[in-house]
Amino acid sequence: MTLSDPMIDTRATSLRDALGDRVLLAGDPGYDAARMPWNVAVDQRPFAVTGPQTAEEVVEVVRAAAASGLRVAPQSTGHAAAALAGTDLTDVVLVSLTGMRGVTVDPVARTARVLGGSLWNDVIEAAAPHGLTALHGSAGDVSVAGYTLSGGLSFYARTHGLAINTVRAVQIVTADGSLLRASADENAELFWAVRGGSGAFGVIVSLELDLLPYADVFAGMLLWDASRAAEVAHAWAAWTASAPESATTTLRIMNFPPMPELPPFLSGRSVVVLDGAILETDAAASALLEPLRALAPEMDTFARIPAAGLVAVHMDPPGPTPAVTAQSVLAELPSEAVEAFLAAGAVPGMFFAELRHLGGAIARRPDHAGAVGSVAGAYLAHTVAVVPVPEAMAGADAAVLAGLAALEAWQTDELLLTFIDRGDVDRDAGLGGAATRLRELKRRFDPNDTFAAAHAL
Ligand SMILES: Cc1cc2nc3c(=O)[nH]c(=O)nc-3n(C[C@H](O)[C@H](O)[C@H](O)COP(=O)(O)OP(=O)(O)OC[C@H]3O[C@@H](n4cnc5c(N)ncnc54)[C@H](O)[C@@H]3O)c2cc1C
Repeated sequence: MTLSDPMIDTRATSLRDALGDRVLLAGDPGYDAARMPWNVAVDQRPFAVTGPQTAEEVVEVVRAAAASGLRVAPQSTGHAAAALAGTDLTDVVLVSLTGMRGVTVDPVARTARVLGGSLWNDVIEAAAPHGLTALHGSAGDVSVAGYTLSGGLSFYARTHGLAINTVRAVQIVTADGSLLRASADENAELFWAVRGGSGAFGVIVSLELDLLPYADVFAGMLLWDASRAAEVAHAWAAWTASAPESATTTLRIMNFPPMPELPPFLSGRSVVVLDGAILETDAAASALLEPLRALAPEMDTFARIPAAGLVAVHMDPPGPTPAVTAQSVLAELPSEAVEAFLAAGAVPGMFFAELRHLGGAIARRPDHAGAVGSVAGAYLAHTVAVVPVPEAMAGADAAVLAGLAALEAWQTDELLLTFIDRGDVDRDAGLGGAATRLRELKRRFDPNDTFAAAHAL
């Protein structure tokens, strides 16, 4: 189809009539800025973009799109834009939730009510004055809705499980343009489905979440030059084999180009970094870390810090970044797998190869869980390459896949939904056996397949 196609014109006219200048079509000033996701390697070109400010405006958008014969894709930040990139967006209205941020904390109930486009930084900031925090991930600019409703793996996870199990209720605009509340008591099937089905079931305009009662936490990182990677990785693998559930840690081999924006201890270097949180007293946590500290790291920031500081520990990029990633879940990490991981970290073009320690409460599905409630497996393997220019995509993609291929022998059938960030991965692997029922419910709640989501059903 071309822009002069009469059907496109009809859809555009119909959408414009309903939403006026609240919608941006291709060619409109502002369209290019509005369609840009956090992962700027993804050149997403939807039919139109709109940024509703209220739940009522979301209702109008969904009704206008459906009446115009168009689909709807909710997006809060575009951290998972590469997952959505497998979907044809030429008939999709991208609903950017960036204008719907806000958090209200109930310190007595230890819950937060969070608007649909809020970031984790918003929740952390609102919860901290009450001595509370949340099961946020490693990056504060990821959205609460996108992360939580696809699982959500935090540094508190081996003790407290996946963040998805902290959701008490959502307010959602469904395919027929209704604004509904879904919880264990209201629209319970929809509530089950959205916890895993996420944006495939509608636009989330708010969520209610349980918070964690931590004002501070023992957390930090240990850093060595990459020449120590083998020694450190084998030691961490042995350490995690018996680490208690109170410790949630990750290990990364990171390769930094020389860049003036980077701190000198990272610029132009390859390093091995171990980081995370240990929910113990200072004495118990220090005793636990002892064998790793005995490896004489060049930097050691592990200490008791305000819980609000945990989000900075993993040093995720501070802003939009062009990247390609891949993941697998490993059943175990024997010595041969550690060697394969070390090889992954050294693949040319690799930004970092990461192992996140799973297990503990992450593998236990609570009774009240929705479609996704747990992930089996012992470690998440995650590879990331930066894509500075579009021509670098093929090489970067080959690097992240080559890194994981080395670990194939230990791979399980499962994946973490939040870390699926490519179009070519079977989503069922991230749905823990819920795919069939989710598809049945998708047909019921969204019979015309109005909603396009990062993880299509
Ligand atoms: C730097 C970085 C660090 C990360 N760290 C972690 C981590 O520690 N743990 C972890 O588990 N994951 C992590 N992730 C993965 C992250 O959780 C997923 O990419 C997540 O989907 C991002 O959500 P988002 O809303 O910010 O992204 P988006 O791309 O905006 O959204 C992803 C999908 O979520 C759905 N969605 C988002 N908002 C709404 C809404 N309001 N209503 C309906 N649907 C919605 C849509 O289907 C959308 O396609 C990380 C990703 C990056 C890039």
